[in-house]
Amino acid sequence: MPTYSHSRLSCFENCPLHFKFRYLDRIKKEKEEGIEAFMGSRVHDTLEKLYQDLMMQKEVTLDETIKFYREIWKKNWHENIKIVRKEYNEDNYYKIGEKCLRDYYNQYHPFDQNRTLAVEQRLMFDVGNHKFTGFIDRLSETPDGVYQIRDYKTNSRLPERARMEENRQLALYHIGLKEMWNEVDEVELIWHFLQFNKEIKVQKTPEQLKELEKNIVQLIQKIEKAKQMDNFPTNESALCKWCDYQDICPDHKHIYKTEQIPLNKFMKDDGVKLVNQYRDLSEQRSDLNKEIKQLKEAIVNYAQENDLSVIRGSDRKLKVKIEDKVDIPTKTKHREKYKQLEELLKKSKHWKEVSTLNASLLRKAIEDKALKTELQNKVAELLIEKHNERIYLSKLRETK
Ligand code: SF4
Repeated sequence: MPTYSHSRLSCFENCPLHFKFRYLDRIKKEKEEGIEAFMGSRVHDTLEKLYQDLMMQKEVTLDETIKFYREIWKKNWHENIKIVRKEYNEDNYYKIGEKCLRDYYNQYHPFDQNRTLAVEQRLMFDVGNHKFTGFIDRLSETPDGVYQIRDYKTNSRLPERARMEENRQLALYHIGLKEMWNEVDEVELIWHFLQFNKEIKVQKTPEQLKELEKNIVQLIQKIEKAKQMDNFPTNESALCKWCDYQDICPDHKHIYKTEQIPLNKFMKDDGVKLVNQYRDLSEQRSDLNKEIKQLKEAIVNYAQENDLSVIRGSDRKLKVKIEDKVDIPTKTKHREKYKQLEELLKKSKHWKEVSTLNASLLRKAIEDKALKTELQNKVAELLIEKHNERIYLSKLRETK
């Protein structure tokens, strides 16, 4: 049985294929690290050291704190640190981290607002039948006995409070804390958004924690099912820029490979040639479609002006049929009318005669195995086998 963590669950939610590469196939990559993550780790290291010293009754000055940050920055810097936002450099990120630490120190010195119980506290607990682990950046307790789970963030954006209320990570740690220490009663979840020198504080009700446990168990069931079916689709998103698996991901590996080759070889690559050919033909088709549309309008006008229903050419003739028809509103294009029509018919005795199968809902129910086995088997016999091959042309987005 695997041990789950918040990051393991998030990885699956963000991209199932990335999850497979990382946690199931355990594909190790030469360690590339985004500079944002590097800076965040050094700020975390510095705050960890600060609170460890304070717990040992050792006073630490702001200068000593910044000196420590500078030293571990230099000591840990490596050549595989990736700066995606090319307009900024190492120094910019170093200074952001330093400012976070200065602001934090000045705001909380002499750090006596609460008592630190632990830094980098490891949690081991169960959710349903599943084992979980996690680390709390700092665990503190107020003079009134309220436990505080604190997390340090160096994000460049300050999220809205509502988003943090939805945040799973610290709420999960709340569950873990209660399970590991019986005396834990009231708990506060606190995020320090260091770039903004702001705290966001949230508390969870027992009902919210129960709901969270339920959702987590459902998500794990989804992961287990993906494993059984070996179904781990890609999910392209902004996070792909930081993904270590671009060279083996079917969505990215051709782009990755062709980015590494010189221009003369690039133009000879079979994939590049096929896409360019498809692009050219698609553009021609689009121009042709425009021309055909204009021609059709001219033909209809000609037929109307001359009261014709058939027009002859050299070796073909064209039948022109002009008629006004009513159409049924569709759910996507005419939402309001569709709803009104549905309500109207539902109230009438004709609903059964005119309502139809919802193909996409049925497809989802089959995929999710939501039908009873007997019904699922009968439905399976009636399904039409179809082989689809579709291709889509779109603009190439930067992935690095
Ligand atoms: S590159 Fe994107 S789509 Fe591919 S595995 Fe990584 S995160 Fe998933």
